[in-house]
Amino acid sequence: MSTAEYDRLRAAHLSAVQGALDDHVNRLDWSAERIREHRDSRLRSLLGYARERSMFYRERLRGIDVDAVTVADLGSIPMLTKAEAQGDWDAIVTTPGLDRAGAERILSEQDWFSYTPGDQQVFSSGGSSGVRGVYVWDWDFFITAACLAWRVQAGAERGGAVPNARLAVLTAGVPPHASTPLFAVPTSRGMDIAVIEAGAPFDDVLAAVAAYDPTHLVGYPSVIGRLARAALAGDLGIRPVRVSTNSEPLLPEDRDAIVGAWNCPLHNLWGSTELGVQAVGCGRGSGLHICEDEVILERVDASGGPVPDDEPAARTLATGLSNRTFPFIRYDLGDEITMLQEPCACGSAFARVADVSGRHDDDFAYGPNTVPASAFRHVLGTDPRIVEYQVRQTERGADVLVVADSDVRALGAALVEAMQRYGVTHPTVRVRGVDTIDRNEASGKLKRFVRLVP
Ligand SMILES: [Zn+2]
Repeated sequence: MSTAEYDRLRAAHLSAVQGALDDHVNRLDWSAERIREHRDSRLRSLLGYARERSMFYRERLRGIDVDAVTVADLGSIPMLTKAEAQGDWDAIVTTPGLDRAGAERILSEQDWFSYTPGDQQVFSSGGSSGVRGVYVWDWDFFITAACLAWRVQAGAERGGAVPNARLAVLTAGVPPHASTPLFAVPTSRGMDIAVIEAGAPFDDVLAAVAAYDPTHLVGYPSVIGRLARAALAGDLGIRPVRVSTNSEPLLPEDRDAIVGAWNCPLHNLWGSTELGVQAVGCGRGSGLHICEDEVILERVDASGGPVPDDEPAARTLATGLSNRTFPFIRYDLGDEITMLQEPCACGSAFARVADVSGRHDDDFAYGPNTVPASAFRHVLGTDPRIVEYQVRQTERGADVLVVADSDVRALGAALVEAMQRYGVTHPTVRVRGVDTIDRNEASGKLKRFVRLVP
């Protein structure tokens, strides 16, 4: 498919998103009961479809009364691991003629984003679990995912659109990542969009953002947080009215810098290439609202049984209600979530989770002791001299790379102390000042914690 062909289909797709957005904005006012009813009927539809069209689910949903099923019955369906989803790809996919080998071919042959003759888009992501994933989004699933990603922001500006709106998209920028198609979406008519590659050298990113002078920003929190610190230091003069973050955990230091620099609503998004979008922050209360009308999340113990909201859960399972081409039913997301009980200041009936702080695979194990990533973050993430950092686990401690505007080697002592609090008796911590920290070549994401591979 040529770039021109892609652009034409993409424009048609974005028109479809615009057309569906209003309905999604209206759903934000739904009552809990309305959400529940919608969800249960969508669940019956999904399970009925999957059982009919997917060899994998035909087996797995045997014995389930799909005409009467509700969310409460999901526990009787086995959970789906990432390894299974990727290993049983050809049995799971519901579209005739589409298989994993074909999807891989599309990924390797496309020079730019593309659509299949059946209007699907194929994406890939590495993920921190180490299993490479290949994903297929059909036409309608993209529309839903884009609406989920943007309806809160669009709703907030309905009736008061920002004049000459310009959205700067700070993402991977290139295939095979879903982030650019998903986030380079205008939320109002006439909104201009510039994609700025987040993995480029920071000075280039800074210059591009300054030149574009966006009214809206969306992208990786580590990059937008750094832009905010540049703004606080007087090195960036933009005045965005709304910021949306995604794809990496939103660390408190980045949130504080963004709010401190621009004093505007910040919408954090928690998504995945599998499910699209799981939850989005309203910009008022803390945490994120689960997209309960399109995604069912279950907090479960190690064997898949339900866990009460106020107790820690071993896993988070997700069921996506709109991906019919490749259904994810009780899929183990790998992330841990904490439910927020108190009602949100925005008045929404959609349940809320605390900011998703990432996976436990960011934690470092030293023999019997585990040092959580937060122990390092607490020291490194709160020091205003530090612009960026990466912690690499070593046999007896850590090598810490730091981009800073002054000498921060003395932080080593504070890090040693932090590790000792978690039982590591004589840790060796080396702090090194560097000019840049390499981002993931393909995604542009910054991996802040690098585990020692045994
Ligand atoms: Zn809210």
